[in-house]
Amino acid sequence: MIKKKNLVFLGPPGAGKGTLSGQLLEEYSLAHISTGDILRKEIANQTELGIQAKDFMDKGQLVPDEVVAGMVASRLMESDCGEGFILDGFPRTLNQGKLLEQALKKAGMELDAVIYFNAGDELLLQRLTARLNCKCGAVYNKLFMKPAKEGICDKCGDSLFQRPDDSLETAKDRLEVYYKLTEPLIEYYKVKGILSEIDSELPKAEAYAMLLERLN
Ligand code: AMP
Repeated sequence: MIKKKNLVFLGPPGAGKGTLSGQLLEEYSLAHISTGDILRKEIANQTELGIQAKDFMDKGQLVPDEVVAGMVASRLMESDCGEGFILDGFPRTLNQGKLLEQALKKAGMELDAVIYFNAGDELLLQRLTARLNCKCGAVYNKLFMKPAKEGICDKCGDSLFQRPDDSLETAKDRLEVYYKLTEPLIEYYKVKGILSEIDSELPKAEAYAMLLERLN
């Protein structure tokens, strides 16, 4: 088992947080809490929360802190999180970082590590705009991780699609939001002494090896 298991994956969109979460989950039983995935499920189910969140997400903006932090706080109380968890895409603002601290305290937990996925804009935009998703949750990339059959999911055979917020224009907006609102969390966790960095420009296998090194 890895030594550090209450984890935050922090980094810009397209840095591979979801991809490496998936790989880690094949080996270790951690709860995967992706706020983006939870929100997309709410939209698909046309819940009130989903209807509220959709406008923000379509524009590449952040859903209000209290909404997302509330979702995470209740998810952390579920029993599987006691074995360890990956917070993928949360927190995304300093305020969310503080709300997370409160939620963890309430649940009697603390973070073991925050992994910062570092990659430059050029590669991030290339990855985001070439990303292909499947309803089953599988993620591919037209350039770097092609499905065996074009446009078809290897895992379930369904058709792949591009997320509306992965268009070039919205991807650029999301990066801007990241630098303005999320990047300050790097310093926040550095000061707390729990930040480790991985080079997310590396090919997947090498980035994964680096991740495991950081977690042990
Ligand atoms: P992701 O799948 O992590 O790229 O997230 C997709 C979109 O969901 C983001 O662009 C935001 O609109 C929304 N979202 C996901 N996580 C958060 C968060 N922690 N705070 C606010 N909005 C979020």
